Amino acid sequence: MTVFCNGTVVLPDRMLEQGMVVSRNGVVSEVLNADKAQVPAGATIVDGRGGYIVPGYVDLHVHGGAGADFMDGTAGAVITATQAHARHGTTTIFPTTTTGSREQVEAMLRACLRVRSEGEITHGARIEGVHFYGPYFADDKVGCHSLEGRRNPDPAEYEADFDLEIIRIATCAAELPGAGAFYGEAARRGCLITCGHSNASWSEMQRAFDAGMRHVDHFWCAMSSVPSIRARLGTPSQGSMEQFVLMQREMSTEVIADGCHLAAELLEFAWVMKGVDRLCLVTDANRAMDMPPGRYRFGPESDGEWFVSDGKVGFQPGAGLASSVVGMDSMVRNMVGMTSAGIVEAVRMATLTPAERAGIGGSTGSLEAGKRSDILLLDRSLEVKRVFIAGVEFNGGMSGG
Ligand SMILES: [Zn+2]
Ligand SMILES: [Zn+2]
Repeated sequence: MTVFCNGTVVLPDRMLEQGMVVSRNGVVSEVLNADKAQVPAGATIVDGRGGYIVPGYVDLHVHGGAGADFMDGTAGAVITATQAHARHGTTTIFPTTTTGSREQVEAMLRACLRVRSEGEITHGARIEGVHFYGPYFADDKVGCHSLEGRRNPDPAEYEADFDLEIIRIATCAAELPGAGAFYGEAARRGCLITCGHSNASWSEMQRAFDAGMRHVDHFWCAMSSVPSIRARLGTPSQGSMEQFVLMQREMSTEVIADGCHLAAELLEFAWVMKGVDRLCLVTDANRAMDMPPGRYRFGPESDGEWFVSDGKVGFQPGAGLASSVVGMDSMVRNMVGMTSAGIVEAVRMATLTPAERAGIGGSTGSLEAGKRSDILLLDRSLEVKRVFIAGVEFNGGMSGG
């Protein structure tokens, strides 16, 4: 038995000052007020040192870190990235595909399968499933992804990919031919269905919603707006993804809260408008996270698009941003620092909300009895001090991995 104590426990809706989290066999058995409880004899004590005891972060949208992109397609690259993200507090991760060839996507899925089946704590963040993100993007919204690697949904391709049984989140631009069939297949497989890198109109979003789509990738990035729909479809001006997500209560979305993609008022607007149970924090981090400033490839190492990291964000000179280079710990600190969200709300948007949207809220995402002991100790500045995955401390992946 392990007892996490001497800290403020962050619950989904409140804080428990001087709380205590009891873990047995890697599962939370009790969360209580320390002054009303005795530490059981023989328990291992984990001292929170007066900081915060929070659930491990859950990242739905992430490409890599520490020099590796999941699309490199090797188990080594996957482990490099999952370890890097665990050091930033992510204990559950959904490695995310980019555009690329059919072979590159399949290699990524197989590498993630292999690492997941090994189930080693030393590998860092636990792979709950893959976010099948590229290649089904709109050609006018590929962003920093390679245009050659984009294509329309092909049932022969995605059915084989779904058959590997690791895809848990499925993205497709709603306006593409074949999008409806893709959404239908993803719904049968129980995925969170999302629309991203899309210039979809309101009516296309409505059709996608009817097919099961419930989420939009990185709000305000590579998505439609009223002016972009007017440019595509003329007048009268029509609603876009933005209005659809804001109007439709069932829709969730995500923000890249690195302070570089979105200004403070948009982060504030997003969480106030959608609420803590419909807005997820994601890193969308690329391989330049925890790497020195320089030139890197987004997506596969062999032929991904080049971008530049200045150490704060990725960008393609003259073209725009190319995803983030920081971990989930930064996103949580930024939400607290840049918006009116408190620690409870910011943590929830990085834990329970993404877990619920991905359908794993019953096993992780909050410190509640019966859930996995995925636990972080943070200091009062919300810096990650110690990381526990299913009750076992992650050593940083520096040795024994
Ligand atoms: Zn994207
Ligand atoms: Zn991305």
